[in-house]
Amino acid sequence: MLMPEGDGKDAFRLRHFLYFCRRAGNKERKKTLGKRYDLESQLKDIDMPVILFENVSKEYQSGIPALKNVNIEIRKGEFVFIVGNSGSGKSTLIKLMLREIKPTSGRVYVAGKLLEKLRSWQVAKFRRKLGIVFQDFRLLPDRSVFENVAFAQHVIEAPAREVRRQTPRMLALVGLSEKAKAMPKELSGGEQQRVALARALVNNPVILLADEPTGNLDPKNSWEIMRLLEDINRRGTTVVVVTHNREIVDEMQKRVITVKNGIIVSDQKGGYAYAKNKYSSI
Ligand code: ADP
Ligand code: MG
Repeated sequence: MLMPEGDGKDAFRLRHFLYFCRRAGNKERKKTLGKRYDLESQLKDIDMPVILFENVSKEYQSGIPALKNVNIEIRKGEFVFIVGNSGSGKSTLIKLMLREIKPTSGRVYVAGKLLEKLRSWQVAKFRRKLGIVFQDFRLLPDRSVFENVAFAQHVIEAPAREVRRQTPRMLALVGLSEKAKAMPKELSGGEQQRVALARALVNNPVILLADEPTGNLDPKNSWEIMRLLEDINRRGTTVVVVTHNREIVDEMQKRVITVKNGIIVSDQKGGYAYAKNKYSSI
C-alpha cells in the first residue's frame, strides 16, 4: 500500500490508510498466534501417551477381578507386545482400549480421549482412530477381498474416489493385489489375516490393536503378519499386539508387557519376561 499524497482529502485518506494497516497487522498477529496455539496443541499431543491406563481394575459380573490396578503408558509410535497365560486379562485390556467395556474403577485414555466420558454416538467416531485385528479374521464371507477392505471405508462414508484409491493401496501393502476379486473362503488363513490387516489400516488409524492375530496361523504366516505389523509401525502407527508366540516375541525385541492374573508383572524391552526364569509360571 502506498502512502497517500498531499491534497485536500489527506486526513481522510490517512485515517483509512492507518485503519487498513491496523487491520492487516491484526490479521498477521492472529495468524502467528494461531500458529503458536496450533504448535502448542501439537506439542501436547506428542507429549500425551496415546494409551494411558490409570489404576484400572475390571470385574466382570462373576465378581472375579479380571484386571487389578493396572497402569500402562504407551507412547505414539511404539510397538508393544502383551503376553500372558490364557485368562490373565489380555483381551480385557484390548476391550477396554476399544471402549467395548468400561473399567470398574480407574481411567482409560486412548488417542487423547477419556473413554468413560464418551457418549455412545461419540464411540463410533472414536473407533475410527483405531484399527482392529482379531484371531479369527472376521471377514464378511459373502464379499470379495476388495469389498471387505472397501467396506470399512463405506462405514465411515469415505468418498468413492477415496475408496478406489485406498483399497488397492492397502491390498498392495499386504501383498494381495492379485487376490482382490477372490472370496475369503478361497484364501489361506494367512491371506485372510492379511485382508483383515488391510481392512484395519485402510482408514489410516492412529493405533492398531491386534488380539492374537497369529493364533490361527502356522509359523511362516505368523512371521509374515508380524513383519507386516512391524512395517506398519515403522510408518508411524502405534501397534499393540497380544500374542502367545514366544519365539516371535523373543526374536523381535520389542517392549513386552506381561500380564498374570490381572496384574502387570513385567514391562520391559526384550523377549518374554520369564525367559530369565524358565521355572516361573507366567
Ligand atoms: P485372556 O485374553 O488373557 O485370555 P481375558 O481378558 O479374556 O483373558 O479374561 C480375563 C478373565 O476375565 C478370565 O478369568 C475370564 O474368564 C474373565 N472374563 C473375560 N470375559 C468375561 C465376561 N464377558 N464375563 C465374565 N468373565 C469374563
Ligand atoms: Mg484373549
